[in-house]
Amino acid sequence: MADICYEVVTDASAYESRPLHSGRRQRFPMDKTVVMQEEWEKKNFKRNKLEALTVRNENVSGESPVTEASPRYGVSSVCGRRREMEDAVAIHPSFSSHSEYPQHYFGVYDGHGCSHVAARCRERLHKLVQEELNSDREEEEDEWRKTMERSFTRMDKEVVLLSESVVSAKCKCELQTPDCDAVGSTAVVSIITQDKIVVANCGDSRAVLCRNGKPFPLSTDHKPDRPDELDRIEGAGGRVIYWDCPRVLGVLAMSRAIGDNYLKPYVTCEPEVTVTDRTDDDCLILASDGLWDVVSNETACSVARMCLSGGRRRRGTPEQAVETISDKACMEASVLLTKLALARHSGDNVSVVVIDLRRKGHVTGH
Ligand SMILES: [Zn+2]
Repeated sequence: MADICYEVVTDASAYESRPLHSGRRQRFPMDKTVVMQEEWEKKNFKRNKLEALTVRNENVSGESPVTEASPRYGVSSVCGRRREMEDAVAIHPSFSSHSEYPQHYFGVYDGHGCSHVAARCRERLHKLVQEELNSDREEEEDEWRKTMERSFTRMDKEVVLLSESVVSAKCKCELQTPDCDAVGSTAVVSIITQDKIVVANCGDSRAVLCRNGKPFPLSTDHKPDRPDELDRIEGAGGRVIYWDCPRVLGVLAMSRAIGDNYLKPYVTCEPEVTVTDRTDDDCLILASDGLWDVVSNETACSVARMCLSGGRRRRGTPEQAVETISDKACMEASVLLTKLALARHSGDNVSVVVIDLRRKGHVTGH
């Protein structure tokens, strides 16, 4: 393994490092040095070990009140081998009162360039969705699509305005133009209702449903070489250039994102939305590409399912169920998946949310 090289970016505007053989950086560093794995691991081992074992809550927000009908969930979000933490997670059970039944919001945001766009999505996107939800109409698939599109568009406008109006901020770019124009984030958002799973995705984070033990992807990664995305980019007059991997204008390794104002219209904030009926589902996994680069949908699904079935045995009868919404089995699943990604040398931040969708898994059931 000692002959495998790692890259360390020396450019202060793009603090990130990851192994050459495990996935790709979102932004290609122009100024870089190469160090050997051994040296790199020596520098990073202590920090990685600590972070791998610690669930960091500062980049996870969840302010809404929980209710008895909230699904159980677990969340794990770690910096991993990167120097900067640019992932953010938002969990808001019962975030909307527009429906007779509670609706639950889960979001994973994977920032690039700096953390401030992902942080802003964590603080704001669920509120925008809440505002855009139409209270007097049944939320059908087309309505959900429009609601999520409006919400993502407003989120995008907010981060562009933020970079123009704020002089300094508590992030590495301090919102100094023009650098902050080259900052963005993925967003994979799921809203769980009584009978539907709505997923809106922009970028290369991913939502995978585990149904009857099999993975059922509810989003498709926005990579620049995806044929329909390539057509869209070239149709708008842009180009996809291979530079370590396919990149929009040779820069960004995803074709949709919130922010990245300088790459518009080639990079768009428009989400793709799926609305899926709930049936005999095990769980839903939302994660950043720090997981998906090194763990397949099948493996993730098997690991989560194994943890959930173990958790049910440990919990015993429903009467003995511990009434915590952030569930131990789901937490174990998210932490185990995160550790698996790190053990497989993911070089990225890793964020994983596991949501228990089993009807019996709810505190009171339905
Ligand atoms: Zn920033």
